[in-house]
Amino acid sequence: MRYFDLHCDTINKCMETCSDFSDNPHALSLKKGMPAFERWVQCFAIWMLDEYRGDDAVRFYERNLEYFKSQLEKNRDKILQVKNPDDLKGDDTRLRAILTVEGGSALAGRPERVEKLKNDGVKMITLTWNAANEIGSGQLEDRGGLTKIGKEIVKEMDCQGVIVDVSHLNDDGFYDVASIAGKPFVASHSNLRSIQNHKRNLTDEQFRIIRDVGGIVGLNFYTGFISDENPEDFEALFRHVYHFLELGGENTLCMGSDFDGADVPKYIKDISCVPALYNKMAQYGLDKTTLDKIFYENSVNFFEKNLT
Ligand SMILES: [Zn+2]
Repeated sequence: MRYFDLHCDTINKCMETCSDFSDNPHALSLKKGMPAFERWVQCFAIWMLDEYRGDDAVRFYERNLEYFKSQLEKNRDKILQVKNPDDLKGDDTRLRAILTVEGGSALAGRPERVEKLKNDGVKMITLTWNAANEIGSGQLEDRGGLTKIGKEIVKEMDCQGVIVDVSHLNDDGFYDVASIAGKPFVASHSNLRSIQNHKRNLTDEQFRIIRDVGGIVGLNFYTGFISDENPEDFEALFRHVYHFLELGGENTLCMGSDFDGADVPKYIKDISCVPALYNKMAQYGLDKTTLDKIFYENSVNFFEKNLT
């Protein structure tokens, strides 16, 4: 099968634990993932902790970037970093790695840094993590959308072709992005609030807005965004999938596992469990066309169109 995952935190996890992409005890490794897929595209996020701002955040970003590059170098026969849409093509089985940043604090409030990150190979930036930063407010803040500089940064990202990710942003921030973004935007790892009432999840209306602008949304496996009652049951995750589809999300819904950044149910404990998840959704009545869209095609179509 083919798999395209919009979010994992494996860079930080491996750096913290001095372990390697190829083989490690975490949820995502080449050893666990490569045998499972004939084509695998993985977004690797540099997760910006909320304790870092300004130059501290820049240094933290650089450390993670160096680590990511060293892992790519070490595993260069197995991983190809996606720099342009053509890198998504080809028949070889190398993992296609897309570098992303989770937390716009890496820009340190300086719009000119968008171009620097773009030149580093960063294709998508989640504007905030949970707290407020120079760009805007995360989900921990009830009010306050994008700052003045945040709006400039979103416009600069549009100009530079760096994709805007609204996961983690609060509702005011979401609607600010919706009103100013000139390009389709993404919620890389967010579920539905109408199924699990958590501020990290999207409202039905927010999902429709992303769908209507041609964006995509990644299904998150974090138990806290799946259900308070029965997060370990497959049915609980499937309720999100089912409702995404009821909302007309057939061409919008994608996968955004959050592997190595979140507690996930045992039945999807690591990347090797993804084919079983696909089969389980098939047993619950989703046809192959829909499943292939969710697990791969919607994401690849989006990136082919929007990668620069
Ligand atoms: Zn996250």
